[in-house]
Amino acid sequence: MEKHVVKVINTAFVTHNVKRFTLQKPVGYTFISGQATDVSINKPGLEDELRPFTFTCLNSDDHLEFTIKIYKGHNGITEKLLDVNAGDELIVHEVFGAINFKGPGLFIAGGAGLTPFISILRQLKKDNRLAGNKLLFANHTEDDIIIKDELNEMLDGNHIDIISEPKSGKPGKRIDKDLLKQHLMETGNYYYICGPDPFVAQIKDDLVDLGVPKEQIVIEE
Ligand SMILES: Cc1cc2nc3c(=O)[nH]c(=O)nc-3n(C[C@H](O)[C@H](O)[C@H](O)COP(=O)(O)OP(=O)(O)OC[C@H]3O[C@@H](n4cnc5c(N)ncnc54)[C@H](O)[C@@H]3O)c2cc1C
Repeated sequence: MEKHVVKVINTAFVTHNVKRFTLQKPVGYTFISGQATDVSINKPGLEDELRPFTFTCLNSDDHLEFTIKIYKGHNGITEKLLDVNAGDELIVHEVFGAINFKGPGLFIAGGAGLTPFISILRQLKKDNRLAGNKLLFANHTEDDIIIKDELNEMLDGNHIDIISEPKSGKPGKRIDKDLLKQHLMETGNYYYICGPDPFVAQIKDDLVDLGVPKEQIVIEE
């Protein structure tokens, strides 16, 4: 099994429960934006506790970056990542993942499901190819929106937040068939979906009902 011990260079919270890890990059380690790897913590007893996380940096960067939602109170691995900071070590493994950019389209993310799209959108920005792409980003509250300023800057009016429990007390919104209908793209465009499994399954079904060909729907299988 491919295995690289990498030092954490820096960590920072990007929302109240999402932590960004910047890591050294192993020599010759490459990936395509949208791909992921299994990560473990290089501490006694945790080395073999592998969890999948998506690269949020670019392949051309000289470091690796992960953007990880921490589930406090679960006693899982993300909670243990609270105690992983600069100078500590993680272990990264083989690169895998089916989500990658196939052409302009609608990116539909739920919460931490944004992560593959962070790398894809950053790469499109670098390549000056962001035009024609749109993001629907579902979160519980405004405080859950990851890298809101960067998304606004990259996508301008094409970053649309869908908040289910707005802090204002106004009625919340969800990504349902009616909303998707309003945001259908031009024929031939792609629909990228990432988030909790029920979210992905529902949106995929809704898009198919709306006439989107299955071949134009990109999800992690
Ligand atoms: C290909 C892939 C890429 C991924 N990339 C990322 C990424 O870049 N960033 C990221 O943040 N996550 C990502 N994930 C999700 C991430 O792998 C999981 O959140 C992580 O493995 C959780 O590990 P844990 O040990 O902390 O689990 P736990 O803390 O035990 O559980 C976390 C998960 O289980 C659910 N859960 C567990 N117990 C309960 C409970 N009692 N009640 C309700 N829900 C519960 C949570 O909703 C959550 O989904 C990715 C997943 C896949 C498959």
